[in-house]
Amino acid sequence: MTVEATSHQSGAEASKARRVRGAKVITTLKEMRLTVERWRRNGKTVALVPTMGALHEGHLSLIREARKSCDRVIVSLFVNPLQFGAGEDFGEYPRDFKRDHRLLTAEKADALFAPAAEELYPEGFDTRVVVGDRLTQTLCGLSRPTHFIGVATVVTKLISLTRPHQVYFGQKDFQQTLVARRLVADLNLGCEVMVLPTVRETDGLAKSTRNVYLSQEERLAAPGIYQALKLAEGMLQVGERNPQDLIEAVRKRLRNETAIEIEYIAAKNAETLEDLNILTGNVLVAVAVRLGRVRLIDNVVVSVPAGS
Ligand code: AMP
Repeated sequence: MTVEATSHQSGAEASKARRVRGAKVITTLKEMRLTVERWRRNGKTVALVPTMGALHEGHLSLIREARKSCDRVIVSLFVNPLQFGAGEDFGEYPRDFKRDHRLLTAEKADALFAPAAEELYPEGFDTRVVVGDRLTQTLCGLSRPTHFIGVATVVTKLISLTRPHQVYFGQKDFQQTLVARRLVADLNLGCEVMVLPTVRETDGLAKSTRNVYLSQEERLAAPGIYQALKLAEGMLQVGERNPQDLIEAVRKRLRNETAIEIEYIAAKNAETLEDLNILTGNVLVAVAVRLGRVRLIDNVVVSVPAGS
């Protein structure tokens, strides 16, 4: 794949931001490496929060937690072309560098790392990080077969560049958190993977950059996603152990919303993503739906004690 597209910001905008006051903007790999080296030499602990920008409360919750645990917080803003498939929304993915910079300044992020695509993927770049099929060719990987290769590749690069003690992810992208844990362990990247709860709108809809694309009608239907997941959680809590029955109940609830088109509904082992014959242990109930041209995902994880 050629990576000719630009990443998060236009280079000009990032250069301009470097000259204004606020969170320190770093666009080159060299400066990022030197900055972290200096921090580490001075005994500081470092957190990395990888994002694609267009920040919302979900992202900010990760940054605030990172702030509590580590001395220095790096927030990367990079719309990663490698994780978008052909025909997906890479070109129209929301980008608002100025607003993100303002928010990160308010959150007192120590560095905003916003490399251009050519900086991370220079001419000749030809390596991919591939996590095994068990975690990547199921759920979202079925409709986005190369997505997790792009995610794993960029996460590996960002971690090796910033050498964080901790790296932060949101539960909303649950499969991504498992992919990140796997590669950090398998490639001995030496950082702790932190996963934080999904931040929601008051009506339950998971905050997502893509929510801004929803029409009024779609926005009204969208809370049905979380209501269906809460229904599944309730069923598990009162003893439902049959995956087909659980999935059917979620499907029925989602079908109440005519604007929602179901991509998948799954109940799986939350550590391995294996199918379960009996719903027990840590059960992941995950859905992906389409509302018009917008694809949304959400999930709950329910702990079901064995024999209960
Ligand atoms: P993105 O910019 O969409 O790639 O997301 C960057 C990080 O923010 C990922 O680890 C996401 O899982 C996390 N994130 C996105 N939405 C939410 C949310 N509603 N609550 C918590 N974390 C989130």
